Amino acid sequence: MRPSMHKFVDLSQHFPDARKAVERKQDFLEIDAPFDKRDCERQSSRCEQCAVPFCQTFCPVGNDIPDWLMLCAEGEWRDAWERLSAINALPEICGRICPQDRLCEGNCVLERSGHGTVTIGAVEKTLTEHAFHEGWVQPLRPRRERSAKVAIVGSGPAGLSAALRLREVGYQVRVFEAQDRAGGLMIYGIPNFKLDKHVVERRVRWLQESGVDVTLNCRIGKDKSFASLRAEYDVVLIATGVYDARTLSLEGEEGEGMLAAFPYLKHSDRIYLGDSVEAQEQQRWSAAGRRVVVLGGGDTAMDCVRTAQRQGAKSVLCLYRRDRDSMPGSRREVQKAEEEGVVFRFLMRPTALLQRKQARTKKTTANGTVFEVEGVRVQKMRMGAKGKDGRTTALPVEGEEEEVPCDCVIKALGFEAEDLPALFDEPALPTTEWGTLRVEKPDMQSALEGVFAAGDIVRGASLVVWAVREGMDAARGIDAALEGRAAKKTNEGQHDVS
Ligand SMILES: Cc1cc2nc3c(=O)[nH]c(=O)nc-3n(C[C@H](O)[C@H](O)[C@H](O)COP(=O)(O)OP(=O)(O)OC[C@H]3O[C@@H](n4cnc5c(N)ncnc54)[C@H](O)[C@@H]3O)c2cc1C
Ligand code: SF4
Repeated sequence: MRPSMHKFVDLSQHFPDARKAVERKQDFLEIDAPFDKRDCERQSSRCEQCAVPFCQTFCPVGNDIPDWLMLCAEGEWRDAWERLSAINALPEICGRICPQDRLCEGNCVLERSGHGTVTIGAVEKTLTEHAFHEGWVQPLRPRRERSAKVAIVGSGPAGLSAALRLREVGYQVRVFEAQDRAGGLMIYGIPNFKLDKHVVERRVRWLQESGVDVTLNCRIGKDKSFASLRAEYDVVLIATGVYDARTLSLEGEEGEGMLAAFPYLKHSDRIYLGDSVEAQEQQRWSAAGRRVVVLGGGDTAMDCVRTAQRQGAKSVLCLYRRDRDSMPGSRREVQKAEEEGVVFRFLMRPTALLQRKQARTKKTTANGTVFEVEGVRVQKMRMGAKGKDGRTTALPVEGEEEEVPCDCVIKALGFEAEDLPALFDEPALPTTEWGTLRVEKPDMQSALEGVFAAGDIVRGASLVVWAVREGMDAARGIDAALEGRAAKKTNEGQHDVS
């Protein structure tokens, strides 16, 4: 046993200081500071150094957590960071926004034995911030340049992680991004109070300094064809995420005051990033002064409720059709939202949107009537038996309905895959029954020659850390395929000569 470790017996768990709810709900700044150096080392020293570390098993990228905790506890910060970044392409991001309570920390034996988990995510964030601060994160200089060209479609965590790993070994990489900024949902979607935009921008800048080319405002399938991409590049990696928002299928969904989560969050991000947004648009997408109802119970819903609070909503109510235990997102995010004044009501399923005719605006529905939402009718539910997917189904309680008044409804019901074969005009692109792309794991290669895929477009809406994992897997698969191709060419050449 290393004397530096196992300090959990005497040293209690401590998270970095979070700003108080009353203060933090006034702005969009991150709510947790990193640890100071001494605290980081002390908290790392609580690790029990398990022979079979469950934290590592439950970390999607397989971070060797006990090793870098030990190095950190012993003051070997540079070694700790090198260990960490050799396995995780985006540790500064995962340390901030992984739902650690469901992954590494939730499975730490100290948590399970009542001592309180080692604060792994906070150490990961602190270590990486320290590495950037000390100038250890220098642009990549591959040992040899390779001529093979890889096109990556989408600059979210899957695309960026793949770009990083491919550039590391010398490939010529270009990322094509439909939006005007790179970063995927990390830049337009996940709010600044969870993940500071400058952290994402810093990583993108670093990749560009490392030789990765980024083409913005280029939607493959519209601004450039998928076929031309395949013709120009040796390999194409599709990492486009999932953006087809689920709907309520209720009358009045297009009415005034009805907002979809992704454009709502994107508008808020754009304002935070300093873009000029027309006053009318700002007003349309702002929760300021409104009684807001958010429908949904996942990460997106939590980001919407907390954004609405920060925009100065009169009240924010989250309605979820199942019970609290069935919420798919991080428990900690729910707790933070409650601290910030969000009210949750569980076992409530919307059945109708209540609307009044609206004279002021020019917006009309297909049949010419102008509507403005003024409430949601909800059906009370109860939890029933477990379904085939292992989740408990929610069942209606007959005769129990109520009306919830509001001025604005934000729909955060989740996302599905868009029809990529149609959008890319490539019917042979193999898909699953859910519309996601079908690939062989772990190489992430599709049945189409030279086409790989990674991230949400393969898994369905998931987590940043899974996108990172699949981006890195795809990079390995692409490298193996290109190496294989190169070896085949050499062998054929030798054969021809003989
Ligand atoms: C609001 C919200 C909050 C979330 N919070 C968390 C969280 O706290 N923690 C967590 O781990 N996960 C969270 N997630 C999930 C996480 O963001 C995703 O799982 C992750 O970003 C998926 O990565 P990706 O690279 O596959 O796709 P994305 O991040 O979606 O990136 C895909 C990129 O591809 C681009 N693109 C799409 N089509 C094209 C095209 N045809 N041509 C060119 N570019 C294209 C898109 O513009 C986008 O930039 C959240 C998701 C949402 C919506
Ligand atoms: S990547 Fe995520 S799950 Fe893995 S150790 Fe870091 S915070 Fe935990």
